Amino acid sequence: MAAECDEPNCNDALHELYEYIDGELDDDRREAIHDHLDKCGHCLDAFDFEEELRKVVAQRCRDSVPDALRARIAAQLEIATD
Ligand SMILES: [Zn+2]
Repeated sequence: MAAECDEPNCNDALHELYEYIDGELDDDRREAIHDHLDKCGHCLDAFDFEEELRKVVAQRCRDSVPDALRARIAAQLEIATD
């Protein structure tokens, strides 16, 4: 199973993934990327990964930091400043 992608638009698609995910592309570009992701599993994998990463980061930022994590960071800071 070759992971190589010979689609001519691959570099462009990967380059614009962030903007695509953020909804910052115009309709033409969005459609082009969407079409490309439909045809190209390589880029779709990259897209899935980036999108998942975005969700995790967004969630982490929205939720308050758990007490356990806060305590661990505080402990780390104390060790660092000792
Ligand atoms: Zn591709």
